[in-house]
Amino acid sequence: MWQIIGQGRAVSLLQQSLKAGRLAHAYLLVGPQHVGKMTLAIKLAQALNCEAEEKPCLECTACKKIAAGIHADVRVVGLAQNADESESKVIGIDQIKDIQHAASLPPFEGKHKVFIVDGAELMSTEAANCLLKTLEEPEAKVTFILLTTNDRLLLPTVVSRCQRLELAPLPIKEEAEALAAGGKIAPERARLLAGLSHGCPGWALAASQDESALQHRNDEIDRIAGVLKDDITGRFDYAGQLAAGFTKDRGAVYETLERWRDYWRDLLLVKLGSETTVTNIDRKQELTDTAGSYNMTQLKDFIESIGRTADMLRQNVNTRLALEVLMLDIPIKGGGA
Ligand SMILES: [Zn+2]
Repeated sequence: MWQIIGQGRAVSLLQQSLKAGRLAHAYLLVGPQHVGKMTLAIKLAQALNCEAEEKPCLECTACKKIAAGIHADVRVVGLAQNADESESKVIGIDQIKDIQHAASLPPFEGKHKVFIVDGAELMSTEAANCLLKTLEEPEAKVTFILLTTNDRLLLPTVVSRCQRLELAPLPIKEEAEALAAGGKIAPERARLLAGLSHGCPGWALAASQDESALQHRNDEIDRIAGVLKDDITGRFDYAGQLAAGFTKDRGAVYETLERWRDYWRDLLLVKLGSETTVTNIDRKQELTDTAGSYNMTQLKDFIESIGRTADMLRQNVNTRLALEVLMLDIPIKGGGA
């Protein structure tokens, strides 16, 4: 009934608690972006309000309203909801006070109130302390679900008040099979999307419906392959462009570095004779051709170098310099087998 890709352990735990009437007052769902945290939270909210025997049925009025985001008793709080202060980088105390007030009132149209805090690590300290008070005095028929990619950034007192559920990325094979199971995505494409999503089906499902995500990825891989053929001037130009982009959109640059890492990991996998496990499965021939130019040590060293660069950028070093050093670290072709 839950129709979630993967996360069988978390789902069955919630199902059992639901059946036994022993749900926690607050849950903390921890996992990488797009792994399915929001999907699971919504399904739990549906299960708590569903009107059918088998919950969540996904068919009744309550289930449908919750899915559409228009159920009065289910609310999502996060940065996106902070419409007045679109520049804001935190979930502020006013947002938490707002849901606290709503939590003190009985359910309006359903059976159970659910408050989902998306990106809980982005709560200001003030906001987190305010939420803590509510978590310490739980009300009947109210459930809080906190979603985070990194629970170490949350107040330990908040974490200790929640039941923690970890959502890990799926094995690529399992994700690919699940994506193809509906019959809408061809197996080969499902395998590609599963690999590129790193086991987080949310990205794969979005990309399966939006061609531009794959196109963007294709352009980036072409760029990476192009840089390898460039001389140092071309490589430094590329570093300069990335550095300029970093001031506007840090996330996009980290994503580009992930693509670099994937590409070089793939070269290493091909070198090890493990072609079927590469991420960029649609580029097997290109990878095989390129891998022949480098030896194992070169590949391993450069993969480390990419990781180091990403770490340095997170520590606010001189971005351009860090990226230029990465360009200088690209191994020289002809390292051979
Ligand atoms: Zn239902």
